[in-house]
Amino acid sequence: MPSRHLVLFDIDGTLLRTEGVGVKAMLRAFTAIHGDLGFSFEGLEIAGALDGLLFARIMAKHGLPAHDEAHAHFQRVYRDALGSSLTPDRVRQMPGAGELARRLSERGAATGLLTGNYRETAQIKIRAAGYDESHFPFGAFGADGASRRHLTPVAIERATAHHGRAFAPERVTIIGDTPLDVDCAKAHGCRAIGVATGPYSVEQLATAGADLAVADLSDTEALVRWILGD
Ligand SMILES: [Mg+2]
Repeated sequence: MPSRHLVLFDIDGTLLRTEGVGVKAMLRAFTAIHGDLGFSFEGLEIAGALDGLLFARIMAKHGLPAHDEAHAHFQRVYRDALGSSLTPDRVRQMPGAGELARRLSERGAATGLLTGNYRETAQIKIRAAGYDESHFPFGAFGADGASRRHLTPVAIERATAHHGRAFAPERVTIIGDTPLDVDCAKAHGCRAIGVATGPYSVEQLATAGADLAVADLSDTEALVRWILGD
């Protein structure tokens, strides 16, 4: 029976880790397009940030135009760079994440993505990590809004379109590894699970306002109970 719950997963640090391959592919894409201008993410907070925003910041830092066409071109080059470098041995699933998505789907919950990754690169990462893509049939991505907060209503809208039913904010749970994931849930009256498999500790995620903060997602049954409320 379909449940009225919607669960949205962040990707990097939550579902998987690419051990820097993603970041390196992005920098390679900038260099491939513009030449070696010494591109780096130094001084930028990457964890939890939207790829679209990182693109705009890097372009601004180097005085390069960040119009739509340039952005679309960058996305294609980055997609190819990531696709050729992210072999399955360079990405790993975070403990329990796949099992949690599977159990929630089995119980009839809607599951999808809420991530700073572009749609196509999100798909590359999910596939390389060996996830069952059918557990993430919709999502909000890194070019869908100006900040992570903007992605929450987009993801809920797409869940509604995909499943043909509405989801009340209090039945929407967002799972992520940074305070920005927590914020994009709480800003819309949704629930946030902070998972400390990224750069932030359980304490930091709890302080950021997570309704539940855990070391990892391996306690499947406890998490399913907490999310579905039974
Ligand atoms: Mg993350």
